[in-house]
Formats: sequence, structure tokens, C-alpha cells
Amino acid sequence: MFVIKLGRRKVLAAGLFVSGVFALSASSSLLGVDEEFKVAHAARALQPGEVVLVSVDSNRPLKELTATSNDRNFLFYSDGESAHWVGLVGIDLETPPGDVQILLNGENLDGEPVQFTYQVTILAKQFPTRQLSVDSKYVSPPQSELDRIAQERRRVSRIFATTTPERFWRGPFLRPVPGETGSGFGKRSVYNGKPRSPHTGTDFRATKGTPIKAPNNGRIVLVKELYFAGNTVIIDHGLGLYSYFAHLSEFRVEEGDAVETGQVIGLVGATGRVTGPHLHWTVRLSEARVDPLSLMNVLKTAGGS
Ligand SMILES: [Zn+2]
Repeated sequence: MFVIKLGRRKVLAAGLFVSGVFALSASSSLLGVDEEFKVAHAARALQPGEVVLVSVDSNRPLKELTATSNDRNFLFYSDGESAHWVGLVGIDLETPPGDVQILLNGENLDGEPVQFTYQVTILAKQFPTRQLSVDSKYVSPPQSELDRIAQERRRVSRIFATTTPERFWRGPFLRPVPGETGSGFGKRSVYNGKPRSPHTGTDFRATKGTPIKAPNNGRIVLVKELYFAGNTVIIDHGLGLYSYFAHLSEFRVEEGDAVETGQVIGLVGATGRVTGPHLHWTVRLSEARVDPLSLMNVLKTAGGS
């Protein structure tokens, strides 16, 4: 544990679970105010595609706290005791290695701004390449489908760009199907010999018809057959966190439904661009592309409430 003195301010910082470089600084507006912050993080790894849980303890209660990192905003939450705040920060799949600044912005009960930075060092990660053979219409879609594909991309991007200020999720995220994971997150995909965008989800092995359970509470914001993803369900877990499930054979929910952890949202299938039945699960956190397994891990390990 370290104490950093900045002018008259004492700032306390601790790196827990994973060793990380940290740095704290005070905004000029606060110089002269005797405020202390203890910042810690937990993560499976500090690498592209990982979720980092950041916790902040302040000696004075705060009204609100958000983090900004790599131009993305992450809303923090407080469990009743407004001197303790927790937030999930996403390290996007294509983040280059190096130091990443997490700028924390808040407001104390007197309405005064509170600002400090926390630094983590992201290590490089090499993602393997996978070769897949699919129907040629999924590699070079016909002209007639291009408008539809563009429209679907826009709709999904708009959903991920929306941050619901309420937090729906509680506790750790559960596995949506019992099976093992197949193809992993971040793999560079080559379809019929042609390179395509990286795999932004994790695939779970499952037979057709296996019930898919909501990994946590949320609101259903999309139930639709998409060109590449086939039958797709998106759950808004709140605070910019989304689950996207693809290739379903059947839906069990409708747009607007509130779902609870463990509730069946649909059945595993093989619709869209697939080589066989499986469940594809993508997680977005304030648009950052992160590994669902990292999300499951960090909340289980750090005891996210
Ligand atoms: Zn997949």
C-alpha cells in the first residue's frame, strides 16, 4: 500500500489481485481539500479483451463517479454506502499494449468535482487464427442483401452505444449453457480462405435445442433474425453492459421483456454464418469488445455484488 502526497492532499492507493502500475493525481480544483482515495483493481489479466473491476474507497462520500478510458465512459455504482464505489472497465480487443489511463470523475456531497487518474499497464496478447468453411453467401453476400446487412449493423451499433443509467445485473454472470467453450474470443477468422473481422465472442459447444439461460438480469432489447448472426437476442444488463447471443433455433423472449438470471431466452441452433450448432455469446461494455469469460471470472473472483 502506498501513500502519495500531492500538495496538501494525501492519496492512498493499493493494487490488489493483479499487480499493476498505478498513479494518482489531483485536479487543481481540489488542491487544498483533504480527501483520500484508495483505488484497487481486479482482473483475470491486464490484456486486450479483458474486464477490469475498479473499486474506489473515498474518505468522504461521493454523489457520483464515472471513469473514462480510451474515450469510453464507464459508470460506477455504489452499494448504499456512498464512500465505496465499483465499476467495470472494458479493455477493447484491439487495445495496443502499454499504459492506459483511467480517469475517474466524480462529485462530492458539496457538489465539488473530484478527479484523479489510475493507471494500468496492458500487456500484449497474441490471438490465434481460425480457418472456417461456410456457405459462400456468408463470405461474399449477394448485392441484394447489402442494404439489409448495413441496416442490421447500424441497429446493433446503436444499441451498444446506448448506456442505460440503471444497473440491472446482480452478482456474478452465469454460464448460459452447460457445455464447454469451443472457439475462443479474439481469434482472427478466415472464412473460405478470406480474412474477416476478429471473433468478438466466445462459442459454447451445445446441441441444437439446448435451452439458453440469461447469464444475469436485464432487459431484452433485440429479438431478430440477422444475416450473419442468425436468430439473435440482445440483453441490456444496464450501465453500458450487453450480452448478445447468436445462431439460436428458437426465441423464448420478446423485445421489452425483463429477464432474470437463469431464465430461458431461447434455444441453441445453427442459424446464420455457422459450421454447426453452437451458442455464440458476445459481451460489450461501453462498446468495448470484451471476453464473456473474463466478465464471468472477474465478478466471481472479486465478489461483485
Ligand atoms: Zn462465435
